[in-house]
Amino acid sequence: MKYKRNLSKPIAGVCLLVIFCLVLLPLTLVSIFPKDEELGQTPVKKGTIPIPENINVYRHVSGKTESIPFEDYVKGVVAGEMPADFELEALKAQAVAARTYSLSKIIRSGSGGNPDHPSAPVCDDTHCQVYRSPEELAEIKSAEWMATGWPKIQKAVDSTKGQLMYYQGTLVEQPLFHSSSGGKTENSEDVFVSALPYLRSVDSPYEAAAPHQHEQIEIPLSEFSQKLKQAYPKKNLGTVNRDTVKVLERSSGGRVALLQAGNLTVKGREIRDLFGLRSANFSVSVQGNSVLFTTEGYGHGVGMSQWGANGMAQAGYKYTDILTHYYTGVEVY
Ligand SMILES: [Zn+2]
Repeated sequence: MKYKRNLSKPIAGVCLLVIFCLVLLPLTLVSIFPKDEELGQTPVKKGTIPIPENINVYRHVSGKTESIPFEDYVKGVVAGEMPADFELEALKAQAVAARTYSLSKIIRSGSGGNPDHPSAPVCDDTHCQVYRSPEELAEIKSAEWMATGWPKIQKAVDSTKGQLMYYQGTLVEQPLFHSSSGGKTENSEDVFVSALPYLRSVDSPYEAAAPHQHEQIEIPLSEFSQKLKQAYPKKNLGTVNRDTVKVLERSSGGRVALLQAGNLTVKGREIRDLFGLRSANFSVSVQGNSVLFTTEGYGHGVGMSQWGANGMAQAGYKYTDILTHYYTGVEVY
């Protein structure tokens, strides 16, 4: 899932109206009509939000929008976003996060779609969440995976059917996740724009098995300087050497907030993008004619660490423990 920088861009008024119409209004109606079984409707449990039967998904390859049964879509997202050989409890945590994200996208889009794909609230790649249909999975994966991995993912989704994450009774809008944090996750405002109460920096102590720990990247000093000059053409880079390339400030989760490079002061996440680093959690030094980065973890570091989730599951934690650990103050029901 790629984070769109719209955490709290105040389309908030519209959002609140939509949320009221779609969420609060039905709940109000439920409390007004307690005998809704008599109306032929499925009773809506207090505090829950009705999940639609289908979700429209924009498929990038075909350019078409497909209507997919909602829980089947969640299965295809878990298959696209997490390895099936992860622990069942980690897959269940991913299922709840994926379901919550999808429903929040539906609610936010109202009856329309996403600005980038107006025919559907979600698409099938990292812009929203990666989704693969069973037919696509059969092509991409092995027969063994379809016989063992796919049923496990189906089980993870079925056993959490309809479950969502709430913060103080409100559906969580941004259940962000990433591959691994490098030991500590980030406050949302240190990586993106807004401070969300459930996206707080927490320790992620069960990530030892994650790939991309302590990954080193060596960049020739000339290339390092050239890319900075191209990225900031109006600024005077000055001299780049071992004395002028250093970390100035780190976030509470350990990522580089500000880096000095020559005369420039650059945000760590911009350095990450510019040099294709696995994460902005890095140390840096100039050695000879090279700039040496050592990165920790993989991804933006906000919300649930997938490898940390798997490590917690291996240590005996349940999916609800995992979710309430990585999403501060949430409830799952
Ligand atoms: Zn999308």
